[in-house]
Amino acid sequence: MRKVFHPTGSAATVALLLVFAVAAAMFHGCAAAPPRAGAPDAGRPSMPPPPTARRPGIVSPPALRESVPGRPVRILMGEGPQQELAVEAETVRAWNYGGALLGEEKGALKLSARGETIRLGNGKVVDSPVDVSSPSGIRIGGRKVSGRVRVSARQGMLSAVAVVPLEEYVTAVASREGSPKFHPEALAALAVAVRTYALVAMEKPKGPDHDVVAGVEDQVFDGVDDVPDVFRKATGSTRGEFLAWHGLVARVYYHSTCGGRTENAKDAWGTDVAYLRSVACDDCRDSPAYKWDFRLTRNEGERIALSLGVRPEGDLRFVIAGTSSTGRASRIRISSGGVSRETSAAAFRRAAGYARVKSLKMEIVPVGNGWVLAGQGYGHGVGMCQWGANGMAKAGSTYREILARYYPGTSMSGGMP
Ligand SMILES: [Zn+2]
Repeated sequence: MRKVFHPTGSAATVALLLVFAVAAAMFHGCAAAPPRAGAPDAGRPSMPPPPTARRPGIVSPPALRESVPGRPVRILMGEGPQQELAVEAETVRAWNYGGALLGEEKGALKLSARGETIRLGNGKVVDSPVDVSSPSGIRIGGRKVSGRVRVSARQGMLSAVAVVPLEEYVTAVASREGSPKFHPEALAALAVAVRTYALVAMEKPKGPDHDVVAGVEDQVFDGVDDVPDVFRKATGSTRGEFLAWHGLVARVYYHSTCGGRTENAKDAWGTDVAYLRSVACDDCRDSPAYKWDFRLTRNEGERIALSLGVRPEGDLRFVIAGTSSTGRASRIRISSGGVSRETSAAAFRRAAGYARVKSLKMEIVPVGNGWVLAGQGYGHGVGMCQWGANGMAKAGSTYREILARYYPGTSMSGGMP
């Protein structure tokens, strides 16, 4: 998901040698958000295709599995062959799995992996996992996290999983995926979408010890620091609400700007989902990415061609060889020196950069010593168009009307009594 106005700057983050997943995210984007100035995009390249929507009648409401309500979200903050991970807070406490206090440090607690065990900064070697917390919240990999962080060692690798209350997670993600300038009803719609995405992940966790990752492969979670109040209000006003489809939690996606028409999940990822089919949308006209162009230099074009398996010669050409029913490029033919190769347009976009080729709704025009890519929209185009949601909200629509438009057939579920 990505943004136009606020750079997430995140990129990175490394606690010592621990490489954080979020860092990898040079672009944000994906599930969601408005492009922000200078920020990278949104196209979640590795997003798994949504599963086929299930038939109605198999499960009756309430939609949530019993194991989900009330439990926190487990967010993989990072993992790697680290040498040392630092967890910072005024006073950091470490506990073992059984709840016994292992140690307390002022300022920062350092942990490192020793095979299947963990070495604490004071030299003590303890069993994995170790829970780390502080009454004032802790900072890990540059991100402030409320709740606790579980640090595990496996074969000499350390992983850190933040365990965060669901509503806190929704607020934090909305603040990264959305814009504080958006209308409150658009942000409320976003909060419901973010919560719904999280609940699906909690029902089907990504790994044995985490539900989601902090980076763009899921929704961008960048900690709980400096979250503008508008996002807390959006979360609070929709507390507990999520979208369901025939008794199951809906798999929802969102993006910054559709550029005129949202995309079918089937065209983007190959799997048809009843409530992720294309809808017309001209409410995102105010988005800075409604129309865009990008000048691709000869050198850049050669680099992209090479990375996609074609050795560039003087006659290098890029041609859109297939489009989806909504006019987005699906295949691109790269040819040069008598060699011609077709690749998915998504691979081309990834190679060119998500912030530069903002969407696949584009044309490629050779000009002088290079090309101009001219397009509309920002992101994968599936599900809710955030700028469109903002346009609707400004024109008087409620968040429920917004969600019903972009996720047709879903119904609102949950919520506080
Ligand atoms: Zn739109």
